[in-house]
Amino acid sequence: MEWITAMTNHTTVPLALGVLAMAAALAAQSGPSGPADEASAEQLTRMAARFAPVDITADVSGLPASERQVLGKLVQASRLMDALFLRQVWAGNEALLLRLLRDETPVGRARLRYFLINKGPWSRLDQDEPFVPGVGAKPDGANFYPAGATREEVETWIATLPPDERRQATGFFTTIRRVPGGAARPFVVVPYSLEYQGELAQAAGLLREAAALTGEPTLRRYLETRAAAFISNDYYESDVAWMELDAAIEPTIGPYEVYEDEWFNYKASFESFITVRDRAETEKLAKFSAELQDIENHLPIAPELRNPRIGALAPIRVVNEVFVAGDANRGVQTAAFNLPNDERVIREKGSKRVMLKNVQEAKFNLVLVPISKVALAAADQERVSFDAFFTHILMHELMHGLGPHDLTIGGRTTTVRQELKEAYSAIEEAKADVSGLWALQYLVDGGKLPPELQETMYTTFLASSFRSIRFGVNAAHGRGMAIQINTLLDAGAVRVAPDGTFSVDDSKIRGAVGGLTRELMTLQAEGNYAKARSLIDGRGTIRPEVQKVLDRLGGVPVDIEPRFPIAEQLEAEIGQP
Ligand code: ZN
Repeated sequence: MEWITAMTNHTTVPLALGVLAMAAALAAQSGPSGPADEASAEQLTRMAARFAPVDITADVSGLPASERQVLGKLVQASRLMDALFLRQVWAGNEALLLRLLRDETPVGRARLRYFLINKGPWSRLDQDEPFVPGVGAKPDGANFYPAGATREEVETWIATLPPDERRQATGFFTTIRRVPGGAARPFVVVPYSLEYQGELAQAAGLLREAAALTGEPTLRRYLETRAAAFISNDYYESDVAWMELDAAIEPTIGPYEVYEDEWFNYKASFESFITVRDRAETEKLAKFSAELQDIENHLPIAPELRNPRIGALAPIRVVNEVFVAGDANRGVQTAAFNLPNDERVIREKGSKRVMLKNVQEAKFNLVLVPISKVALAAADQERVSFDAFFTHILMHELMHGLGPHDLTIGGRTTTVRQELKEAYSAIEEAKADVSGLWALQYLVDGGKLPPELQETMYTTFLASSFRSIRFGVNAAHGRGMAIQINTLLDAGAVRVAPDGTFSVDDSKIRGAVGGLTRELMTLQAEGNYAKARSLIDGRGTIRPEVQKVLDRLGGVPVDIEPRFPIAEQLEAEIGQP
């Protein structure tokens, strides 16, 4: 349910043909072409320039001195997550980093900078191509599995284990290592608390110091239980405490996402998001939540398809980053995430969505605005705003909860997801987008939102559609966005000028948005797989006029390279650990 995979979820950056083409073009421009591991300083600088450097700042002025100290301690603990993540990616990473740090030649500096962006010597935007001489292919199993072992060996060994040990071997918080001379039993399961004992003991100490400083009980509880988890390797209680966090400071620190383990997606990578709550957006969210039943009651679908009692929503937090580290700070930056991943916690406590507003804003300024200058007609460029962008993202998330979900087809109980199968994600993402626009217009019409919003939200959405499609239509978001833009083109609600720029037709956009909302939700209510499939095949494509815009986006950054001046300041205030 991510908004736009490539930009919001650091997981599967679908490797966009556009990006690859750009890398190839860059390589071609800078002299003799060769493998990327012989990239020149200039080539590396250009590869890195796809990430626009930006200061990520948050307002911490309202925090009491004690909470500022808490943030400082959490930043220090986060630096340990950086070190652990480096080691998790590749056993050779730390030694290579030391070598790069000593290389003061221009190409050495360029390698170091790009290494730090990627957290390793492989370019994550270019299908993990190595860019440091002598480095081989990126290990798919990262450093979670025994050195020299194959995926098949590990898989075969896991299959021989009794259920309890198998659970350990396939768990989030263990590595698998070789037993020296262990012919009968080649491998052993090692808990993170042992594998990373030194750093985790240090991190636990810092979290406890932070816990002792804070005046916020739910924060203290998360920090204490997370510190205990680092030592015991049992994360359950701290995941529950994280779900119950209700404080000005909202940290997420520890082993979480499993994408770096490309063998099995079993093993969690260390990361840290140190954030503070955004008060204004949190209030906006509460206001929207209060309107949801009314929105459902007026959805532009047959009345019998509306849900008379919508269910409880998963909690959403809007926060601003103070510092991020480890898996949370490599390659394309995360702009929102859902956690925890532990099924047991999800069953008992649900999961929480955290939206990183200042990251979204940086991406808006450095990526979306430049895209709008290429994609939109001059008059429409003036009607692109961050407020419209972010308000629509909030509504997108809420609209996932509205419309048809549980179905009864011929007496059989089922769900939209089951019926639409592999077509579900693209349809559901398109639904959340377009019905989000419809809902915002409904609230404007009802006087619940300022009328200025309708002046910017459609054009902002149009610009952002190019940002999504830029990463290809293989991912749900890109395909869902292609469906929308093509439908709006067909309806005449979006027009293309002879110079190739796009604009919104104000007289037609509302009708077209309502029409597509009705089409998608009705298809979902019917559980109509055939219709979903033909919609995706017919309208989920990149048309030539859209491709022409994408072809002109080569100079626009792909993402941001964040810097955290406030974190450095807070760290300096408390001194060395
Ligand atoms: Zn979504």
